[in-house]
Amino acid sequence: MENTQSYTFKAETKQLLNILIHSLYKDKEVFLRELLSNASDALNRLKFELLTNKDVVDVEKELAIHISVDKDKKLITISDNGIGMNRAEIVENLGTIAQSGARNFIELAKQQSSDFSQVIGQFGVGFYSVFMVADSVKVTSRSFSPADTAVQWTASGDETFEVADSNKQDRGTTIEISLKDEFSEFADEYRLREIVHKHSDFIGFPIFIGSDEKQVNKQTAMWRTNKKELTDEQYKDFYRQFTLDFDEPIHTFHNITDAPVQLYSLMFFPSKAERSMFSTRKDDGVKLYSRNILIDEYNKDLLPEYFRFVQGVVDSEDLPLNVSRETIQSSGLLPGLKKVLTGQVFKELENMAKNDSEKYLVFWKEFGLFLKQGIAMNAPEVDKITPLLRFHTSTQEETWTTLDEYIARQPEAAPDVAKHIYYIVGDDPRSIMFSPHLDHYKSQNIEVLLLTEPIDSFMLMGLTKYKEIELKNIAASDEVKTDEEKKEEKEKAETGENKGLIDVFKSVLGEKVADVRVSSTLSTSVARLVDEDGGMNPEMQRVYRYLGKDFDQPKKVLEINTTHPLVEGINALTGQAELQAKLIEQVLDSASILEGVTPDPAKMVQRIQELMSVILEKSK
Ligand code: ADP
Ligand code: MG
Repeated sequence: MENTQSYTFKAETKQLLNILIHSLYKDKEVFLRELLSNASDALNRLKFELLTNKDVVDVEKELAIHISVDKDKKLITISDNGIGMNRAEIVENLGTIAQSGARNFIELAKQQSSDFSQVIGQFGVGFYSVFMVADSVKVTSRSFSPADTAVQWTASGDETFEVADSNKQDRGTTIEISLKDEFSEFADEYRLREIVHKHSDFIGFPIFIGSDEKQVNKQTAMWRTNKKELTDEQYKDFYRQFTLDFDEPIHTFHNITDAPVQLYSLMFFPSKAERSMFSTRKDDGVKLYSRNILIDEYNKDLLPEYFRFVQGVVDSEDLPLNVSRETIQSSGLLPGLKKVLTGQVFKELENMAKNDSEKYLVFWKEFGLFLKQGIAMNAPEVDKITPLLRFHTSTQEETWTTLDEYIARQPEAAPDVAKHIYYIVGDDPRSIMFSPHLDHYKSQNIEVLLLTEPIDSFMLMGLTKYKEIELKNIAASDEVKTDEEKKEEKEKAETGENKGLIDVFKSVLGEKVADVRVSSTLSTSVARLVDEDGGMNPEMQRVYRYLGKDFDQPKKVLEINTTHPLVEGINALTGQAELQAKLIEQVLDSASILEGVTPDPAKMVQRIQELMSVILEKSK
């Protein structure tokens, strides 16, 4: 061969080849997909060139891919008449440039135990997958540019490759694969046809195998293909290629609609809310095509923000062709599409919740947060979101319940209680059940929703009623007390036996509390903090705390349980004012902690140590 030159692969490429050659991955057949995908890229680039340039080799030829085999010689030949490569390009593209993709792929190979060769194409090193099955590979290419001459590239998967002149006359690239003995099965037209169907059915150019004149592939995009013609495996594969997520999506849905808009959508609820470090999706948003042409890789205008976890492809006939993102936004078509797509997502969620509650809970645990955000943001679809919410409650701690189920249980459990949806907000699902606010509700068998995620406080600002039933925070309210009871409580506090005790509490706590009262609802707890009537509601206070906002924590009312032995004990400590004061301060601090407000730790620790010494002193 004339003008032969030898090159050494870059270190990363060598390492990559080494992994691929010695790999035990079973899906070796994906090499074909990678080569066909390169051929398709090359054809697309030529198509683009032809828009402005007719001075091109073989300008009239049909754009296509041809595959042939020689069974005896164990050869596969793949030809495209795409853009082609000249000598400099082939050297650069197939071997010498620094390969960050190779490095990343090697990194993935180390971490991922499953068959990651399937996604090699996503790392920009798909070509090399051919060395999983090849002994040697010869690439011959003739660039589209009449000024260039043809070139040939050969390699055997070791450290070097060679480049030489070639006399190829027609445009494009031909790859000849000499298969290893153990992979001679691939030198078979039937087998190759099968692989094309499985992995490359949606390539946008016709693929022909052997002398058969009928093209093998479907050639329409997957999302435009009738659902009935698609297999689960194809959907999974699409998802894997699309996201580089090796776990299966929680849910896949594919819709083709004609009215009110012409729309194709193929969408997924991913396996995880968090994108992995390898994910090919670098941002939220769906991939938007207009009549098969990619317009926006990450479109955020087609679904409400709280559905931003949804992954997938949307393609519409109605969008004008070849328009920029900005034009699309101003075309006024997006709201219509958004409405349809949002409806599709809700429909899937509603059906899943109704027909496959187990799957829905998998979804809920991963993505419930997003639905709660939708409510917090005051989304117009709030009435559709609320029935999709799931809660733990004081009587259904382990299971998830809907608001409808809660409402249905309520009258049975507590027929006398005014109809409300009661909830308590806390920081931690374990300790919330010990909240003093629950005392009364537990004893009356009234179910209370347990809200322990930070987002819950935000959600509650947008969720004050459900089906005309008001939601009530049990920490804020005297809801369950009748006016009669409240009056009685007040009298009890101001007169008689408790007056003295209340006064002691008040004088010790002074400005730290808004008031001290005798509680009529506490049974097993010592005390609790509640808000003054008409003050800032507790959700808002939490929201401010979460946002790190500087705000004056409103003073609270301390309600004490005068029948609790600790309170009786404190009451009996006449003549020991100092000890009594410490205990009272500790009652307040403990109640604060239960509200999620941390008292001054230094002071509290010191006080507890002092109380400990008293105990030790007594037990000497
Ligand atoms: P990627 O396709 O992600 O760029 P590959 O390793 O599959 O990575 O291919 C490397 C490069 O080799 C391509 O970007 C392209 O420039 C060139 N190439 C591969 N196959 C062909 C082909 N059939 N025609 C033209 N160029 C090709
Ligand atoms: Mg490629």
